[in-house]
Amino acid sequence: MNDDVIATVEQSATPAGAPADLDKSPRVSSRAPKDGAAEMTNFEIVSHYFDLAADSLDMEPDLRSVFRSAYREVQVQIPVRCLDGKIHVFSGYRVQHNGARGPYKGGVRYHEEVDLDEVRALAALMTWKTAIAQIPFGGAKGGINCPAGQLSSDELQRITRSFIDKIEKVLGPTRDIPAPDMNTNAQVMAWMMDEYGKLHGHTPAIVTGKPISLGGSLGREEATGRGIVYMFREAARSLALRPEETRVVVQGFGNVGSWAARLFCQLGCKLVGASDVDGAIQSPIGIDPEMLLAHIRAGGKLPEYSGPGVEAITAEELLQLDCEVLVPAALGGTIHAGNADSIRARLIIEGANSPTTPTADEILNQKGTFVVPDVIANAGGVVVSYFEWVQNLQHFRWGEREVNEKLGVILRRAYREVGARALRDQLPLRVAAYALGIERVLEAAKDRGYV
Ligand code: NAD
Repeated sequence: MNDDVIATVEQSATPAGAPADLDKSPRVSSRAPKDGAAEMTNFEIVSHYFDLAADSLDMEPDLRSVFRSAYREVQVQIPVRCLDGKIHVFSGYRVQHNGARGPYKGGVRYHEEVDLDEVRALAALMTWKTAIAQIPFGGAKGGINCPAGQLSSDELQRITRSFIDKIEKVLGPTRDIPAPDMNTNAQVMAWMMDEYGKLHGHTPAIVTGKPISLGGSLGREEATGRGIVYMFREAARSLALRPEETRVVVQGFGNVGSWAARLFCQLGCKLVGASDVDGAIQSPIGIDPEMLLAHIRAGGKLPEYSGPGVEAITAEELLQLDCEVLVPAALGGTIHAGNADSIRARLIIEGANSPTTPTADEILNQKGTFVVPDVIANAGGVVVSYFEWVQNLQHFRWGEREVNEKLGVILRRAYREVGARALRDQLPLRVAAYALGIERVLEAAKDRGYV
């Protein structure tokens, strides 16, 4: 391996912020106020749950330290000449947390607030998520601190290609396989695949979430949203919720949120509130997610959508809407000590990663709100990414029904195994899920002789 191209964090390139004229977003603030109780970073939150789960497993302190830190952290400088004629310098990250169970796997996020702490936290979450779902991957995550929403397609392409050129040595279809996350999509994956292919030859299995024309899997785009609806069907049994009586609120009407909304409505539920970075809307009569999406795709802003009974509300009012199900599907930390108590949903299904802070989790637990945690709730994306990778290695395409059915089998199994562990050890679902994941990673690490 050529270490010249890999700047580890210890010897990293100078951390670079977004340039002054690109980093001012007038839109909804994406970060939650911190819980008064503890100024916890994203990574501290993930470590907090790791510790609770490790306690339940009586894990020794030296073993804990192996899993608390990442195997490899890469930080690279991405200088790009933007359309304003100036060179802007962004920071790109790839964190490979643990590869005991297989190649590293995880999305790449483009957002002005991306930093190493966040990518580290998300990489660790991926390790536990793939283990809980029993798919043969380790955990990784990537990100670039660029203001994606303010960049042209041409600028995004240059940033993406430059990032891949700088981290390609740590990638590979049996080494580390990126995927889409916030502000990255099939187009970005196509550029990544193409750039990697220039250096290594045509390699579709190097990324997942690609366009169908380049070896993407049928069902991948909607997989995370579909998984959320599968989780609803499982949890609804315990809560005696019937779809036709279920009102749903979605925070973050992007890939995950808009697909969840559409699939909830197909099941007979009603979408009564939705939001994105531009604002929020509600309608007690119900919002047609297809019409809302068409409005946004035509260049309209979400809060300007005018359907029957629709009115614009604030981002905080959205969380307080009278509903049965709330799906946070935007950024981490949006449900916190300051707003958890006013949430009226009976069931929260975490589409986003880490949307609920630990203090909020406790408040919700005391209120009796049922929370399906991120590590199972949003695993649909990585499960179908796994199917895409398998199809690429087989050079064979599966039908969409086959993809959806296999996804259902895996997610239902994960939900039931986590539920059984929670019951057996009297643990909250989130801690039970982590415990199951940690146990499996530990077993693989021991079998390999890592630990
Ligand atoms: P996306 O970029 O397609 O959509 C994100 C949406 O959130 C956009 O509509 C954006 O406007 C909105 N948003 C941003 N800030 C907001 C705010 N402060 N308030 C309300 N809305 C806001 O991203 P995505 O792929 O849908 O990912 C969303 C979340 O789901 C992320 O946390 C991601 O890590 C997680 N996730 C995604 C996948 C996947 O397959 N895409 C899988 C697992 C988890």
